[in-house]
Amino acid sequence: MNSQAKPRILFSRQEIEAAVKRLAAEVRKDYQDKNPLLIGILKGSFMFMADLIRLLDFPLEVEFIRLSSYGRGKESSGKVKVVQGLRSQVRGREVLVIEDIVDTGLSVAFLLDYLRKKKPASLRLCALTDKPSRRQTPVAIDYLGFTVPDKFLVGYGLDWDEKFRNLPDICFVE
Ligand code: 5GP
Ligand code: MG
Repeated sequence: MNSQAKPRILFSRQEIEAAVKRLAAEVRKDYQDKNPLLIGILKGSFMFMADLIRLLDFPLEVEFIRLSSYGRGKESSGKVKVVQGLRSQVRGREVLVIEDIVDTGLSVAFLLDYLRKKKPASLRLCALTDKPSRRQTPVAIDYLGFTVPDKFLVGYGLDWDEKFRNLPDICFVE
């Protein structure tokens, strides 16, 4: 890792706040009477999840799942598995997956498949960012914050070798 890397802002905290507000309004409209199960993909989605659910003023439940695939560095290994599973029942629930970024799409496509087999009543995806230029498998994003260019993002939960998750803005490194 290049220790000289200086993250530059792509979306400011104010822009993020506005996007999360918009997403919360969309999610509220669809889920306010459904007691949804929101499943965040660790670790990158933790900050987005925390901000999103604070704007949702109706009953819901929160779960997290951890997938492996990205090792150190910037490239996906392409192989995905669940390394930390769910404690809640998915069967019959209105499930909304919360993801930080859809890049190749392999992680989320795997997870949606994995969850679909557990027979939820419904299954949708809310992603903070989408990098469509890198897609290897089609993914339908139901609620989207930002479409992003082909840059490596850090901040607002996203890391580079576990660094930079604490930056309050969505940044990129070169
Ligand atoms: P995918 O399987 O779609 O290629 O990648 C999904 C995961 O890879 C994301 O949840 C995220 O953890 C990681 N990832 C993909 N692109 C980026 C990026 O630009 N920055 C960071 N920090 N992680 C990324
Ligand atoms: Mg992730």
